[in-house]
Amino acid sequence: MISKYTVNEQGFYGEYGGAFIPEMLHPNIEELKTSYKKIIKSPSFQEELQQLLQDYVGRPTPLYLAKRLSAHYQSTIYLKREDLCHTGAHKINNALGQILVAKKLNKTRIIAETGAGQHGVATATACALMGIECVVYMGEKDMHRQAPNVARMKMLGATIVPVVSGSKTLKDATNEAIRDWINNPTDTHYIIGSVVGPHPYPDMVCQFQAIISKEIKNQIKTEPTHIIACIGGGSNAIGAFYHYLKNENVQLIGVEAAGLGIETHETAATLALGSKGVLHACMTKILQTQDGQVIEPHSISAGLDYPGIGPQHAHLHQLERVHYTSITDQEALNAALFLSKMEGIIPALESAHAIAYLEKMNLKPTDNIIINLSGRGDKDLEVLTKTLNHDD
Ligand SMILES: *Cc1c(COP(=O)(O)O)cnc(C)c1O
Repeated sequence: MISKYTVNEQGFYGEYGGAFIPEMLHPNIEELKTSYKKIIKSPSFQEELQQLLQDYVGRPTPLYLAKRLSAHYQSTIYLKREDLCHTGAHKINNALGQILVAKKLNKTRIIAETGAGQHGVATATACALMGIECVVYMGEKDMHRQAPNVARMKMLGATIVPVVSGSKTLKDATNEAIRDWINNPTDTHYIIGSVVGPHPYPDMVCQFQAIISKEIKNQIKTEPTHIIACIGGGSNAIGAFYHYLKNENVQLIGVEAAGLGIETHETAATLALGSKGVLHACMTKILQTQDGQVIEPHSISAGLDYPGIGPQHAHLHQLERVHYTSITDQEALNAALFLSKMEGIIPALESAHAIAYLEKMNLKPTDNIIINLSGRGDKDLEVLTKTLNHDD
């Protein structure tokens, strides 16, 4: 599907995207760029991927009619249950897709970077499944903050490399992963976890997450009026939107993390406050100072705590095809507690941002809304229970 909303032959979405990479990385990116479409289309690849998505991930994930939530808002609200995927979020859809691409390219070693650890866990899971070596770069500071995910990755057999340079967080881990890839161009594939990075990553990751909206189309009886998803890099959102991009009757809503509020500096709302610049080798919108220093973002949810956004979203924002908005930490916490009590579903704090947007809408009985529930909240219990105790 080539349209004004998707990537062109040069790897751009309008003025965003591209591959702004060091010369040393050209062979790696070139190999991927020339082969990814053909690989993904091949019947043997699709057969293996579809089988795994069904039997290993548990797809299709249900499209659940949330009756009590619907009654409360006096409209019809469905939850797309990505929280029921193996490993607890949509990230496994991409990790499995990419590891099968790596196998077709005869790669024997996988590297990844991770911040919150969710992408690291999905990648380590896929590697264990395939019996392939897995090296995950992680900032030392993040390793302390996300200790349970470090333990998971170790159990799954991955090697975790602590990164002690710079601020010891995601940005530095990314630099180390790129350095590794430059040094190991023939045997290694680098699995990026969202629709970010140099072309062809944003498009490739989008292809693997588009399964979400493909399933929605088969599952929903009447056309949705709105589809709502939270946005970190933007992979669960583009997955939920993809097959509706050309259907202008459907309002698409992307919810960024406002953190403490977009009027403060403690925020991760990139499209609300960002400007054009290059981050992780692609042209997009980023949170930066006047002289181009990347601003350290803030969100209560680690998965949305990113100073950039996928180039396709920057483009869809410019074309006004998707409405982008933001939700604060407190609003997301409230929504997480609310959904838990209303439906018996504890959402990831990331997904709670999408739920929280219901409060901001002027809902009508004829509205038929789908919220992409990107992940489950088990990983956030510590933060969530702190709030509960606070309320007591
Ligand atoms: C990582 C993550 C996100 C944010 O990443 P996207 O690429 O924007 O989807 C959202 N929800 C959950 C549960 C995550 O783990």
